[in-house]
Formats: sequence, structure tokens, C-alpha cells
Amino acid sequence: MKANLLALVGAALLAACAGSWEQPASVERMYVIECGENHVKDLSRWTPGVNVGKPHVFGDHCYLIRHAKGWMLWDSGNADRLAALPNGLTAPNGVITAFMKKPLVESLRQIGVAPGDIEHFAMSHSHGDHSGNANLFGSSILYMQMPEYAAVFGPEPQKYNFAAANFENLRTARVMKLNGDHDVFGDGSVVIKSAPGHTPGHQVLVVRLPRRGPVMLSGDMVHLVYSWENRVVPSFNFNVEQSGRTIDAMKEYAARTGTQLWVNHDREQHALIPKVPLFVD
Ligand SMILES: [Zn+2]
Repeated sequence: MKANLLALVGAALLAACAGSWEQPASVERMYVIECGENHVKDLSRWTPGVNVGKPHVFGDHCYLIRHAKGWMLWDSGNADRLAALPNGLTAPNGVITAFMKKPLVESLRQIGVAPGDIEHFAMSHSHGDHSGNANLFGSSILYMQMPEYAAVFGPEPQKYNFAAANFENLRTARVMKLNGDHDVFGDGSVVIKSAPGHTPGHQVLVVRLPRRGPVMLSGDMVHLVYSWENRVVPSFNFNVEQSGRTIDAMKEYAARTGTQLWVNHDREQHALIPKVPLFVD
């Protein structure tokens, strides 16, 4: 009798759980923010073997997530100070010119959020087009993979093409050093996934939107939807072999979980996604 009762309770609990999966996730909404543009003279640097000599404009995006427990920012784009340069800032090697049309702080203000309101901050990786405004978030908890942390705050950040100045205010930040995947709010709705290769501790973010379902924010795991479909990465990646293995693993994950990939630098794909002041949910 007792066993039967337990079985009944168990069945009722299972039914309750199954029901709760249909409820909105604890992510309420996400703002997609234009965080600059990167104009390049030769796209083939990013797509070896094709697009030789072809100029291209990469988009650059930041993502602000409203979770029931607080705000999280993913990536920080090109530096806001570039907004004062109408012709952008060209890298010393001449291959990229970076623009920032609307400062990130202005987009945040439009949403009604100040940098100090953002409790959780993570970047896909530490290159300048993702860490440009990182210094605004020194009071947030910073989530970084250990190999990335060692490269950024070690003796030779420049060896990895990281600019130490972009991280000055993060030296004293609360840091959660990661060694793999991490569930930020503990409910599976926002999960950082280790995705190394482009840099030593590159990571991607899976956000479970209440209406659209799970979305993976790519960082620079791939630079274009084309690259995702064709398993193409730049030869200048920290580790090209590892980059390919990461793409394979994330494709397997995406297929198994029905997750769609949003490619940070793919301007054409992002043209179809609502931007601030609108949001996605
Ligand atoms: Zn990038």
C-alpha cells in the first residue's frame, strides 16, 4: 500500500515537472545591441580559400539578458570611444577598420540600465571587438575560462592579441574562473559552454528564451553562418584543430537540443533579429 502511494506521489511529481517545462523559462527577455562594425579588405582571412580580395563588413553585437534574478551582459563590443571617430580606427596592420556608431552605454540607457546594474558579465573571448567596453563592468561578476584568464592577466597578453588596457578595471573584479560549462543562474536557462580554439578559453552562451527556445550566441567560434555550415575557421585562430573539434561538438549539441546558432559577426543573419529598443523573448 505504502509503495503504491509512493508510486502515485512520484507520478504526480513527474506530471507537475512535465507541466512546468511548458511554462516560460526564467529568462524573461534578451536585448540584441549593435556594438560596432568591423570593415575588412580581404574576407578570405576569415574564410581561407574563398572570398579572396573581397571586402566585407562584419557586424558586432552585445546581448543583454533579463533573467528573473538579474541582468547579464554577454560581450561588450568595440570601444565606445570609437564613436568619436567618424572614419573608425584602422588596425596597425591595415586589415580591419573598427567603428562604433552608437556607444554601448547609450544603448543600455535606452533600455533603462546602467553598467552598475549588471550583476553578471561574460565575454566570448578577449579580443578588442568583444572586450572594448569591459572596463565598464568592474563591479559585475566576471565569468572567464581559466586558460583565457591566464592569458589575459598573465605576463604576455599581447602574445594572444589581447590589449591589457581593456581589462584594467577587471583586475579587482569578482571573478568566477571556469573550467568548462557553467549554469549562471542555476536553472539551466543561461549556460556558458566552453568552446576553445579561436582563443585558449573561448566560450559560447546558450540562452533559453521563453518563446523562441534555446539560442546559442557564437562569439567567434565561427564568424559567418557560412563558416558554421562549412566548418571554416581563420588560420590565425589560437588552435585551428581545436576550433574544428569545438564546431563539431557544438553542432552535435545544437542538433540534440534544438538550439539555433546566432553568429555574432554575421550582419545578414542579425538583420532579421530585432534590436534595441525592441527585444527577443
Ligand atoms: Zn570578434
